[in-house]
Amino acid sequence: MKVVVTGGAGFIGANTCRLLAEHNIEAVALDDLSSGFRSNLEGIGATLVEGSILDDTALDEVLPGADAVIHLAARPSVPRSIADPWSAHEVNATGTVKVLEAVRRHDVGQVVVASSSSVYGANPTLPKQEDLTLRPVSPYAASKLATETYTLAWGSSYGIKTLAFRFFNVFGPLQPAGHAYAAVVPAFVDAALAGRPLPVNGDGSQSRDFTFVDSVASVLTRAVTDRTHSPLPVNLAFGTRTTLLELIGELETILGHPLEREHREPRAGDVPHSQADQTRFRSLFPDVEPTPLPEALARTVAWFRSTGAGAAT
Ligand code: NAD
Repeated sequence: MKVVVTGGAGFIGANTCRLLAEHNIEAVALDDLSSGFRSNLEGIGATLVEGSILDDTALDEVLPGADAVIHLAARPSVPRSIADPWSAHEVNATGTVKVLEAVRRHDVGQVVVASSSSVYGANPTLPKQEDLTLRPVSPYAASKLATETYTLAWGSSYGIKTLAFRFFNVFGPLQPAGHAYAAVVPAFVDAALAGRPLPVNGDGSQSRDFTFVDSVASVLTRAVTDRTHSPLPVNLAFGTRTTLLELIGELETILGHPLEREHREPRAGDVPHSQADQTRFRSLFPDVEPTPLPEALARTVAWFRSTGAGAAT
């Protein structure tokens, strides 16, 4: 079996390519390395083709013979999209149409894509059930809604098996810290290991359904091996809700000492609370067992340490 992973050199992509390779599935990553890294794929048995999903030639190079495409390539991050909305639109919306048309040209039977819990946006209802009214509040969220709706429309129009997952806050090894748009878990772990105050946007009462990347990668792998598909979008998270202050408490337990915090202004485009309703996900994946937060955080801290983070403190 051959699976093409767009964005395969990125955080979720490289973890997914590793798991696919471990299952003896041929994994081919198509990535322009704009936020991914060649080194993420070294030694794991996956192939990297450097190129953009916006380039038909690159897509026509990797897609022949593919049984499925896992489409993760995107311009991620809410604040980055507020600074540069055109790039978010171009990669996440237009790029998805490029991928779907290539899937059609090469008769690939299945496409699994990454949408985002950010599509729920300003709708305050919890937990987030997929049929809620969507109120995206950032260009990123609007562009991820385009990713999923284009995909599902290509499914119904052209008979492609589709699965559009809404990822929640995914974290774990390979997720970069130390840049302006870093996600909260790597930003906290990096600061904690370096002995800096943890940067908390707002008062820290915001809550998220944190999801370990191994759990996401195993669901994506299962989706392609079992050919799972759905005409409706599906939350990919496990129905937990942890505030940023609770997350800091978990980190303090792992590290064995208290952590200083530095509170900042709340960020534009951020939603206060997020938690997945799992009903639809569980109807498709009844047996997947997520890695619990304390273990997942401990493994993330161990990975950061293995990269040398905090070695000088
Ligand atoms: P990431 O930045 O590590 O991965 C995205 C990858 O796409 C990178 O390797 C980047 O180089 C590549 N890419 C960007 N533009 C490209 C292009 N034009 N052509 C080819 N490759 C391109 O981010 P991630 O966290 O691994 O996110 C993966 C997917 O999951 C994205 O679609 C993102 O929107 C979605 N998602 C992630 C989260 C999360 O918590 N990390 C939450 C919701 C949704």
